[in-house]
Amino acid sequence: MKRLLILGGGESGTGTALLAAQHQWAPTVTDQHTIPAPRRTLLQQHGIPYQENVQDIPAPTTWDAAVVSPGIPPNHPWVHALQQAGVPVLGELDFAFPYDPAPVIAVTGSNGKTTTTLLIGHILNALGIPAQVAGNVGYSYARSIAEETQPPAFRVVETSSFQLEYLSIFKPRIGLLLNISPDHLDRHGTTEAYLDAKLNIFQQQQPTDAAILPADSPPIRTAFHRRGFHSAPHFFSLSPHPDSHSYWQDHALHIHTSHQMLTIPDLHPRIQGPHNRRNIAAATLATALAADTIGRRFIPDQLQAAIQSFPGVPHRLEYVGTDARGIDYYNDSKATNVDAAIQALRAFDRPIVWIVGGIDKGNDYAPLIPLAGQHVRHMVILGPYRTPWEKAFTGIVPITRADTMEEAVAKARTAAHPGDVILLSPACASFDLFRNFEHRGDAFRHSVRPYLTTP
Ligand code: ADP
Repeated sequence: MKRLLILGGGESGTGTALLAAQHQWAPTVTDQHTIPAPRRTLLQQHGIPYQENVQDIPAPTTWDAAVVSPGIPPNHPWVHALQQAGVPVLGELDFAFPYDPAPVIAVTGSNGKTTTTLLIGHILNALGIPAQVAGNVGYSYARSIAEETQPPAFRVVETSSFQLEYLSIFKPRIGLLLNISPDHLDRHGTTEAYLDAKLNIFQQQQPTDAAILPADSPPIRTAFHRRGFHSAPHFFSLSPHPDSHSYWQDHALHIHTSHQMLTIPDLHPRIQGPHNRRNIAAATLATALAADTIGRRFIPDQLQAAIQSFPGVPHRLEYVGTDARGIDYYNDSKATNVDAAIQALRAFDRPIVWIVGGIDKGNDYAPLIPLAGQHVRHMVILGPYRTPWEKAFTGIVPITRADTMEEAVAKARTAAHPGDVILLSPACASFDLFRNFEHRGDAFRHSVRPYLTTP
């Protein structure tokens, strides 16, 4: 038995431990913090040793390999210690890939990963092609392989740039890079380094594999060509573009691959906004290319029904309900960066009362200013970190401050006119007042609920 050290006892580390134990490895999980109780129980049930609240890395030289959770950066002292001891250090995706019997569709990008990953899974399953969704969506890639009894036709894997930093084995049959925005600069340093990490998704691909990219992003296209990848590039876009394999023209969606030519003449998805139209173009292209590899042809009516039945994802521009004054409430708590908030402001053609605030990761609010001037009736800043918002938006829109979500919703209601939208799209991380973005979105839903007349 080979000895495997797993750094991090979260979803990724636990999944890796379960998979490793099935494949002749003796895993040990080690964590600098307390491992959450449900994961600890899982490890105990499988007889996997673990260590919590560890100060120093356990005997670096004694391991045959180590797997690093995505929360641990490559410059972490433990990673250095292992590398210096000659221990191969892998990420979860690389460790698990050789054990995956299913072809992988991998999704990355700055925004829209979860929506697009779930949409791809939804379309494939709706069309009778069994797909398992895994990765950053909350069910780790390694765990999904470890726990299944029957391999799916495709595994659809949401990957973060943190996971992609370590890549040298993982080889998706179809890789999709949705977009890139200057998020996470605190960890990656520059946009170029961040883009490079995302592009690693294509690194191991062969000419028979497909890369899906936005047709209208020169930086992504240039970087893709500079890296000299082997896979066949395929493009999507919001509107017709000479290179696009998948694009919208009014309400029609056109998709073509080397095997299929599809048009859905009148598509009305439930998920709103131009950004979701992009996600749909990208996701549909991924499913058509996946179908090509197994000799399946889509029927446009069935594809249309599959896309239209996708309900969207909680906390991503999620419709919460409407009150007696015809005000619609939308929960976009997952908008933790400026780009996501831009998409939210663009998604409505009615005045918006906009709830913002939280922990600012070095945001540049300039791109939001013209949109706020056009779309926003009133801004409510929630939480203690107000100064950057006030600096950027004073004189552009009226501003009110709130200390709690209830107060923010109440103040937003006072400012709103009948028929407006009240939108939580904070452009910041949630850790000032909340445990995570789900907690913040739930607080919004909870505060809004007493006012709703529908649904
Ligand atoms: P991720 O998994 O990449 O964080 P999500 O699907 O969870 O992406 O969406 C996160 C936020 O980004 C939401 O506020 C959503 O409305 C917004 N968003 C979704 N798709 C896009 C896109 N293609 N471009 C920009 N923003 C997007």
